[in-house]
Amino acid sequence: MLYQRSSALFSEAKKYIPGGVNSPVRAFKSVGGVPIFMKSAKGAYLTDEDNRTYIDYINSWGPAILGHTHPEVVKAVQSQAEKGFSFGTPTELETEIAKLITENVPNIDQIRMVSSGTEACMSAIRLARGYTGRDKIIKFEGCYHGHSDSFLIEAGSGAATFGTPNSPGVTQGTAKDTLLARYNDLEQVEDLFHHNEGEIAAVIIEPIAGNMGCVLPEFNFLKGLRELCDKYNTLLIFDEVMTGFRLAFGGAQEVFGINADLVTYGKVIGGGMPVGAFAGRNEIMDCLAPKGNVYQAGTLSGNPLAMRAGLTTLQLIKQDTEFYNRINKSTETLDFEISKILSSKGIEHRINRKGSMMSVFFHTNKVANFNDAQNANHALFNNFFHYLLERGIYLPPSGYETWFISDAITSTEIDKTLEVINKFEY
Ligand SMILES: *Cc1c(COP(=O)(O)O)cnc(C)c1O
Repeated sequence: MLYQRSSALFSEAKKYIPGGVNSPVRAFKSVGGVPIFMKSAKGAYLTDEDNRTYIDYINSWGPAILGHTHPEVVKAVQSQAEKGFSFGTPTELETEIAKLITENVPNIDQIRMVSSGTEACMSAIRLARGYTGRDKIIKFEGCYHGHSDSFLIEAGSGAATFGTPNSPGVTQGTAKDTLLARYNDLEQVEDLFHHNEGEIAAVIIEPIAGNMGCVLPEFNFLKGLRELCDKYNTLLIFDEVMTGFRLAFGGAQEVFGINADLVTYGKVIGGGMPVGAFAGRNEIMDCLAPKGNVYQAGTLSGNPLAMRAGLTTLQLIKQDTEFYNRINKSTETLDFEISKILSSKGIEHRINRKGSMMSVFFHTNKVANFNDAQNANHALFNNFFHYLLERGIYLPPSGYETWFISDAITSTEIDKTLEVINKFEY
C-alpha cells in the first residue's frame, strides 16, 4: 500500500476534525482515495508521511512561488521569531511592506493587511458598500472569493468540486444582494446593471479565474467591465488573491493594463504565512476605520512573522529581473509538451494558461466559463491525477483547480513529469 501512513492518519483525523481536514479540497473527495499527509517540503518537492516525494504543482495553492522553504525566507522568519511573534502594536515592518507594494502596483495608494483572502474580499465588499452607499454586488459563476456569506453563491473551488454551490447557512437576505453573471458574458453584466440601476456597489472578479480551473478573460471582457463600472459609478474589484505578484508584480492590473478600484490579495503576499490584504486609491481607503467609519480590524493583522515572510518573498521576486520570465517559460513548456503528448495519444483536451497558472481540461471545446468547466471529462482528470500521484507528481486534486508553477521547478522536474505523462494509460 503506497499511502499506508496517510491512510492511518486520515482515519485518526476524521475522529477529531470535520471530514479529517481543515479545508475541504484537501480531503480528495473529488478525485477519490486518501489525502496524502505531508511532513516536509523543500524547493520543488513535498515529502509525505510514508517518505515518498512528489514534484509539487500546487505549491500550497500558490503562496510557495519561490518553491518551498526558500533559505532566505526561512532565515528571515527565524530571525523575526527571536524578536517576537506578535506585539498588538504597529511595527515599522508593516509600513515597509505597504510601501513596497503600493509603489510597485498600479493604481493603489494604501493597503490594509488581514490574515486571509477570505477576509480581504469580505472587507473589500464592505468598503465598496460603505463608499458607494449601495447594497448589491455582481459576481461571476465559478469565481471564488473566499467563504464569506455574500460569495457562497455559485462559488468555484471546493464548492464547485462538491457540486453544492449554495451553502446552507447563507441566508436568503444575504443571497439576494449577490447578482450572478457568466464569466466572459459582458451582455449579461450589462443587463444586470440595467435592471438594478443605482443599486450596484461593486463588480468583483478574478481577472484570471483560477477556481473553476484556469479560465482566461476573453478579449475586451475586462475592459468592458471597466467601462460599465465607470458608466454606472460602480467599483470594480479585482480579486488578485491568486494573480497578485504571480502574473507580474503588479498582478492582472499590470498585465492587462486595466485599473481596478479595489484589489484583494492573499496567497503569494504572505509567502506561505496566513496573510491577505486589500488596497485602493486614497479616496476609497480613507473611508476605513480609524480614519473613516467603515469598520474593519484584526488582532493578528500585520503580524510580524507573517509580514517578514511576505516581505522577504516579495523582495526576492522584485530584485530578480528574470523571475517572471522563468516561471512563465516553465509553464509554457509544460503546456506545449503535455498537449503534444495527449494529442499523440488521441486524448481530447484543452489547456488554459496565463503566466505561471494553468489547467488541463479534458474537453473538446474551449473552456471560457463555469459551465464549460463542468462539461469537461472529470472522470478522466481523476484517472490522470491518480496516475501521476502514484508516480510522484502532485497535481491539484480536482479538475476545478489551477496548477501553480514555482521557481523551484526546473527542466529536471519538467522532464520527469513529461516522462510520466508519456506513459499515461487510461
Ligand atoms: C484562495 C482564494 C481566496 C480565499 O483566500 P483564503 O486565504 O483561502 O481565505 C479568495 N479569492 C481567490 C481568487 C482565491 O483564489
